[in-house]
Amino acid sequence: MSKLTDVFGENVFNEATMRERLPNETYKALKESLFNGTCLDISIAEIVAGAMKDWALEKGATHFAHWFQPMTGITAEKHDSFISPTDDGKVILEFSGKELIKGEPDASSFPNGGLRATFEARGYTAWDCTSPAFVKDEILCIPTAFCSYNGEALDKKTPLLRSMEVISQQSMRVLKTFGNTSSSKVITAVGPEQEYFLIDKKLHDKRLDLMLTGRTLFGAMPPKGQELDDHYFGSLKERVSSFMKELNIELWKLGISAKTQHNEVAPAQHELAPIYSTTNIATDHNQLIMEMMKKVALRHDLVCLLHEKPFKGVNGSGKHNNWSLGTDDGINLLNPGKTPHENAQFLIFLVATIQAVDEYSELLRLTAAVPGNDHRLGANEAPPAIISIFLGEQLTNILTAIENDQPLKSGNKKPMTIGVTVLPPLPKDSTDRNRTSPFAFTGNKFEFRMPPSSGSIAGPNFILNTVVADTLSKIADKLEKTDDFDNEIQLIIKDIMKNHKKIIFDGNNYSDEWVEEANKRGLSNIKNMVDSVKTFIDDKNVNVLEKFGVLSPKEVHARYEILLESYSKTINIEGLTALSMAKTEILPATIKFATTLAQSITTIKSTGMSVDTYAQETLLTKVSTLNGQLCKAITLLEDNIVIAQNSEDDYLKQAELNRDEVFTAMDKVRSYADQLESLCDSKVWPFPTYTDLLFRV
Ligand code: ADP
Ligand code: MG
Repeated sequence: MSKLTDVFGENVFNEATMRERLPNETYKALKESLFNGTCLDISIAEIVAGAMKDWALEKGATHFAHWFQPMTGITAEKHDSFISPTDDGKVILEFSGKELIKGEPDASSFPNGGLRATFEARGYTAWDCTSPAFVKDEILCIPTAFCSYNGEALDKKTPLLRSMEVISQQSMRVLKTFGNTSSSKVITAVGPEQEYFLIDKKLHDKRLDLMLTGRTLFGAMPPKGQELDDHYFGSLKERVSSFMKELNIELWKLGISAKTQHNEVAPAQHELAPIYSTTNIATDHNQLIMEMMKKVALRHDLVCLLHEKPFKGVNGSGKHNNWSLGTDDGINLLNPGKTPHENAQFLIFLVATIQAVDEYSELLRLTAAVPGNDHRLGANEAPPAIISIFLGEQLTNILTAIENDQPLKSGNKKPMTIGVTVLPPLPKDSTDRNRTSPFAFTGNKFEFRMPPSSGSIAGPNFILNTVVADTLSKIADKLEKTDDFDNEIQLIIKDIMKNHKKIIFDGNNYSDEWVEEANKRGLSNIKNMVDSVKTFIDDKNVNVLEKFGVLSPKEVHARYEILLESYSKTINIEGLTALSMAKTEILPATIKFATTLAQSITTIKSTGMSVDTYAQETLLTKVSTLNGQLCKAITLLEDNIVIAQNSEDDYLKQAELNRDEVFTAMDKVRSYADQLESLCDSKVWPFPTYTDLLFRV
């Protein structure tokens, strides 16, 4: 293996490469527009494109592609070759500034929620020069945003870029009131931890459900569950570790700092975390991580499952979105600091986040809404679908002392006063920190643990940025006007604690008592994706996104439709897959088993001997009864799928039908099939069982 330092970023057109390959003037101009987020002049783009092309050709690239993130949640790219024909019948290799800046992918089949009429169906991609270009599979990939011709966002990246600008502006307003003159912008940083499963490809390919839906739609629990993971790792360990090694190298080449990797709770489950970076780049990198995981797994005869709940009864996968706010000159605004002044600034950004999360908890909940997460949230392995914040005892005590004009320590006489009292050092990343909280403060950042393992982190972050910007703007309004700064801060903290402390919860989020308590506090518990999507178009939510120009009401409505449609599509595919497996694989096998039992009884009886056929008869009765029930459940599922399909003119109604009729019918089919699995001869079972998948590789 070559040295990490040689490999790292070798396929990225990064700062160092730009400095080396661009004329000084061009490099400076590019850096400037990068920093300010302004448009690049076409004459400069021309020079950048030329240098990029030469560099990419040396890396073996033959094509270029605008790489974008449509609303499907995965990435898309349309490849164009560098070749351009000349008059003399030959070709030259070209890549113009125009081609770098703007693309017109034929992308009419991506979800757009009615934002593009067919005559303008193309939409266009625009270079996001804040995220570096890279070479992947002999393609020069240019990260882009994807918009309609009217400029409406058709992708996950555009609102994210808009939100980064918004939170920077509002944070800067607050920082200026604190007398900050050194910082010029505020950047949100994210480190997403990615969970995933690895299973054997040969077994995977024998199961239609895994192939088409990414999760098992059938499967009785193995006699032993996830407590026995050593067994499985015995046989997978080597392949897994060579997978991880190769994955790391592939990611390093792309400049992705894959850092920690470890096994997770469930058998066959693992986690990878990169070192945190700017939200926008972290989002691009997470997309690449997911893509590479799938690709590299195949090279090792493994399949990487990114689904939130591949196996019933086994812990599912999520993504932990570690989020913080920092200035361009290196101040982490969620870091308590050492002086009363720094403490006050920290507390303001802290309470701003608390208020935002409480006020817009439904928007945050929405960012975790994919069909797969409905199986995971609230299933005693992930936070419930109730948003709350963990602060830790000390921080909660500090805020409570301020709220009630009390001293920080019981022995002290003086109440906790902003600008005077120094905060005690807070424990950073203590090992006993609360891992059941959906939104936990972890020393100098917040960790949002609800996001789905398969989804883009653009959603959680553009919402987080926007809602925190909203609170910061209200705080800035007050601080910019006040004559008594420290007192105003004290009042702001008191006020936010009074109105929003209900969102703070340090206890066990997995407990039934919390569900009850949260209900008493008036916190919402939105258990499924459809109900969550409904809250998207509530006035409050539409307004905050419009107020800061992150999404227009039209864009929100388009996304609302896309989300409902994608829910229906997913459940429809799952329903059809379950139907196919039950009808063409399970039922034929179980009927055959019943026939064998019946034949055994007749054969024995025909001998005329008085031999007991109790076992066969009992089993036959059970299997035949279940076969009948399974058959009826199949008919019900079939009917319900048709009913849901027929209501396609109403997205909401269709999604509700899929949830209430198709999903429940699927569960019924599964329950009979799973019972049959544990009764039948294992040799007749038509596809690999949970034991095979999880333990017997
Ligand atoms: P855990 O203990 O939860 O497994 P780590 O401490 O290893 O997590 O960090 C998880 C992720 O958080 C990593 O991607 C890390 O880079 C990221 N992270 C660390 N500090 C920050 C920060 N200030 N802002 C955003 N992300 C951060
Ligand atoms: Mg974590």
